[in-house]
Amino acid sequence: MSEEFQDHQIRDVIKINYKYTMGGQSKFFIEVMKNKRLLGTKCKKCGKTWMPPRINCSDCYEPADWVELKQIGTIEVSTIVWYTTSAFIKAIPYGIGFIKLDGAETSLFQGIFSENLVPSKIKKGKRVKAVFNKLREGKMTDFFFVPEDEYDNWISKPEYEGGV
Ligand SMILES: [Zn+2]
Repeated sequence: MSEEFQDHQIRDVIKINYKYTMGGQSKFFIEVMKNKRLLGTKCKKCGKTWMPPRINCSDCYEPADWVELKQIGTIEVSTIVWYTTSAFIKAIPYGIGFIKLDGAETSLFQGIFSENLVPSKIKKGKRVKAVFNKLREGKMTDFFFVPEDEYDNWISKPEYEGGV
């Protein structure tokens, strides 16, 4: 009788306290948290509007100014999430996608929720609007997008509200 080697394993939890800085993009997160505004940046030289914001234009490397964008946009590409981390497990299934806000030339990767989540609801070309959590922490998860025709239902829920 041969005994197969098995390594000895101990399962445990590592807890790490850390501080993450948003650096030059802090204004974006502060405006989401305090004022429910979505700020992009506009290049001072070429005029390209970035969302998510970039402090310097990634095309010509010139500084960019903060600009407020509309909270409505168009889905560029999306998928439905079935496997995720513990932070989002209660939300599955949910959509994620690249959304180009009106007035922006780049797309924001963000969650897309729907009361009736089927692929046709969140497909390319669909219009979506931003909904904000009432309790905001200055994180990307402070807001998400919903199909335009579901917006009024979402902002009438006690935990959410519309932007400005
Ligand atoms: Zn530029």
